[in-house]
Amino acid sequence: MSTILDRFLDTNIQDLKDRGLYNEIDPLESANGPVITIGGKKLLNLSSNNYLGLATDERLIEAAREALEKYGVGAGAVRTINGTLNLHVQLEEAIARFKGTEDAISFQSGFNCNMAAISAVMDKNDAILSDTLNHASIIDGCRLSKAKIITYEHSDMDDLRKKAKEATESGKYNKVMVITDGVFSMDGDIAKLPEIVEIAKEFDLITYVDDAHGSGVTGDGAGTVKHFGLQKEIDFQIGTLSKAIGVVGGYVAGKRKLIQWLKVRSRPFLFSTAVTPADAAASRKAIEILTDSKELVEKLWDNGRYLKEGLKKLGFDVGNSETPITPCIVGDEKLTQTFSQRLYEEGVYAKAIVFPTVPRGTGRVRNMPTAAHTKEMLDEVIAIYEKVGKELNLI
Ligand SMILES: *Cc1c(COP(=O)(O)O)cnc(C)c1O
Repeated sequence: MSTILDRFLDTNIQDLKDRGLYNEIDPLESANGPVITIGGKKLLNLSSNNYLGLATDERLIEAAREALEKYGVGAGAVRTINGTLNLHVQLEEAIARFKGTEDAISFQSGFNCNMAAISAVMDKNDAILSDTLNHASIIDGCRLSKAKIITYEHSDMDDLRKKAKEATESGKYNKVMVITDGVFSMDGDIAKLPEIVEIAKEFDLITYVDDAHGSGVTGDGAGTVKHFGLQKEIDFQIGTLSKAIGVVGGYVAGKRKLIQWLKVRSRPFLFSTAVTPADAAASRKAIEILTDSKELVEKLWDNGRYLKEGLKKLGFDVGNSETPITPCIVGDEKLTQTFSQRLYEEGVYAKAIVFPTVPRGTGRVRNMPTAAHTKEMLDEVIAIYEKVGKELNLI
């Protein structure tokens, strides 16, 4: 190893460890369901994005198995050479139907999708208005495009309007885009899409909503854009196949000509191999299940409400979540880590989320209930929260 790299790694890893920011990864010895096994210990799992329990759904496993047997393990090429299987096309048709758009294009991940879509349309002569709490992949996608990034205060519509006016009236930019998460994953609040659309119309902004945490959750499962009935107004509806859908992948749903453009200009689509046949088939199955039935989505919301009420009643601060995402806000970073550690020892896996993922002094343990949890599991979770909360004087 180069001595410069060696020194760089030693210094920086030690620095993170000293500041308590070095993340140790706990590998699971089980599926990522409502109960997981880590180091031989069974834990109630409140940390996955597997909102609907679809990651282990028998119907998806069967669809994946059939695809695996017919098409093998890999797609064999990038989408634009000959890696597009009819499974990918069927998946995209199912996504467009589900989202209520003319067409859709799928990618290898949600992260990848933001790298692909933003820079296919925006360049150095453009500007992007971005919510301060947008996901890392949106931030990186914006950077990659080389457009001027103008952040606005989280969900502050006066600030957005002011900055949209400045950007469009300056005459400095060819195009201006507004970009937001549909559901913000650290607090569980929903973007103010009706106001955003109004501002976008006033200033002719391109609209881009990354609904990674909303798809399969809000709008009867079809997402936050559907929740507000704005399918015709939002240009880019981004989603992931890796969270509620339970598999892996990402997509853009929108107008046909937008999708046509992305198919010739988005670099991960052109230069990175397509998702595996099993992934494509399982994702399509999940979307069909969600298109046909609201049962899992209703169960998720039921469980979300139950957990939120239970924790609130105990006296925990669950913030202003509007979705099943249920943060327990502790504040102090060290205390948040201790809280999460004690929950772990008592049998609950709920990760501490601290600065820099959330602002300093707003450390929290974040809970993600799913449709696969039973009421008994949630009762057990609430009892453990009560015990540990009292022990640490949090309630
Ligand atoms: C999780 C997430 C992504 C990344 O999705 P993957 O499919 O896991 O790559 C992108 N955007 C947002 C808003 C997310 O929450």
